[in-house]
Amino acid sequence: MSGILSAIKLREAGFDDFTIYEKADRLGGTWRENIYPGISCDVPSHLYSYSFEPNPEWSHRFSPGSEIQAYFEGVARRHGVTPRIRFGAEITSAAFSAGRWQLETKSGDHDEVDVVIAATGVLHHPNMPAIEGLSRFGGALFHSARWDHTAQLDGRRIGIVGTGSTAVQIVSAIVDRVARLSLFQRTAQWIMPQENPAYSAEKQAEFRRRPELLEELHADTARLFAAFSNGLVDANSPQMKMIEEACRANLEQNVRDPLLLEKLRPNYRAACKRLVMSCDFYQAIQKPNAEVVTAGIERIEVEGVRTRDGRLHELDLLVLATGFRVDRFMRPMQVVGRDGLRLDTVWAQRPSAYLSISIPGFPNLFMLNGPNGPVGNFSLIEVAELQMGYVLRLVELLREGHCREISPSEDATQRFEAERTEAARHTIWGSGCRSWYLDDRGVPMSWPFTFDRFREEMAAPKIEAYQLA
Ligand code: NAP
Repeated sequence: MSGILSAIKLREAGFDDFTIYEKADRLGGTWRENIYPGISCDVPSHLYSYSFEPNPEWSHRFSPGSEIQAYFEGVARRHGVTPRIRFGAEITSAAFSAGRWQLETKSGDHDEVDVVIAATGVLHHPNMPAIEGLSRFGGALFHSARWDHTAQLDGRRIGIVGTGSTAVQIVSAIVDRVARLSLFQRTAQWIMPQENPAYSAEKQAEFRRRPELLEELHADTARLFAAFSNGLVDANSPQMKMIEEACRANLEQNVRDPLLLEKLRPNYRAACKRLVMSCDFYQAIQKPNAEVVTAGIERIEVEGVRTRDGRLHELDLLVLATGFRVDRFMRPMQVVGRDGLRLDTVWAQRPSAYLSISIPGFPNLFMLNGPNGPVGNFSLIEVAELQMGYVLRLVELLREGHCREISPSEDATQRFEAERTEAARHTIWGSGCRSWYLDDRGVPMSWPFTFDRFREEMAAPKIEAYQLA
């Protein structure tokens, strides 16, 4: 998503000498890799679109992953981006030497470039849980982001580990096909009820005829989501109270069995973990062939999952919907900055960056959706568009000859990080739960200020925060 965006925006700004390196043989990032049953985006499709590429054809308010993949492929084709992608070219190292970046691919090809934009994604590297016996399992077993569609579901006994957005979507999608579904829950999740109506053919035709309607829809939804994310950064905001109420009512009104209801009731505040959106999870999990298993996983055996209460849950297929290693970003790429400074050293404890975009000592390297940027239930496309506008302002300084190297100062980065860390403790993500938002210290790794402030920061770089060489 952000690589395609970079190419389009670079060209618009008059930069035509660029290459996109893609490790896979197809574009699409998360939408190429996550093809599990039920995958859709829980950000409304008319917001989860480039602002300059509204799409009248979205089938639903929250469209399925395959449509999103097709959308990105279409945008890349229409903008002439696809021929600029070098597929099957995984960058293994990027080293800054004599004022330029030396790139090397896995197959040993070299390139030398002035500027690197890391559009490498966040939720990317599967988190394989450290559960004993995974390799002993006799049935099929895979991570949700490595779905094997040759594995049979119909009439089989399926286990799912995890209760995040991914697991919830899979449960709703497959429960009616399988003989038995066991959901291994370590922590209950708050579920925000979200209807997912289809757009009628008439509505789509109207969108085609009147593109201004799409623009309005995009702008209105963006405003709504900005208000929502402004609420997240203040744990005591009225928005948080409303969300909590909606989630509690959803649980209490839709789960009949009081024992199950208590199993599904989280013991932390709504939206502390990333809010899960679903209109049918509670219905799905109450089907007679479904079970929420809370006993805790002891180990995996040949026949299935042994829980701590001694019970063996016999399974044909086990899906690990256990999330991602969110501290990786462009790694395992070896990134070496000025004077041999290694990114692995700088990020040894945790990833950090000035305004989520650039790192002291790593000149002319810019990240889209990098560390501690806005994450949450809103459009990462909008975030990347704002960031790309900012990056272009910096690249412009290089083009105009103001400097040959640009990187944030250590001082500005430390000040930003201190302010960010302090603010992060007061957000809803820091209100007391375990989640992928938290770093090794338990501090939320996200943009803790309002979305309005993010927009303001991205509007123009503060040059005094940078070292221009
Ligand atoms: P996730 O939110 O990180 O959830 C991982 C789940 O696995 C959690 O329930 C976690 O339990 C459980 N888990 C991890 N290790 C475990 C272990 N060793 N034993 C037992 N349980 C374990 O991952 P995700 O559901 O793949 O979602 C990741 C992110 O992707 C989401 O937060 C969202 O940002 C994005 N996403 C978005 C959509 C969408 O519609 N837009 C859909 C899917 C995913 P604990 O809670 O106890 O840690």
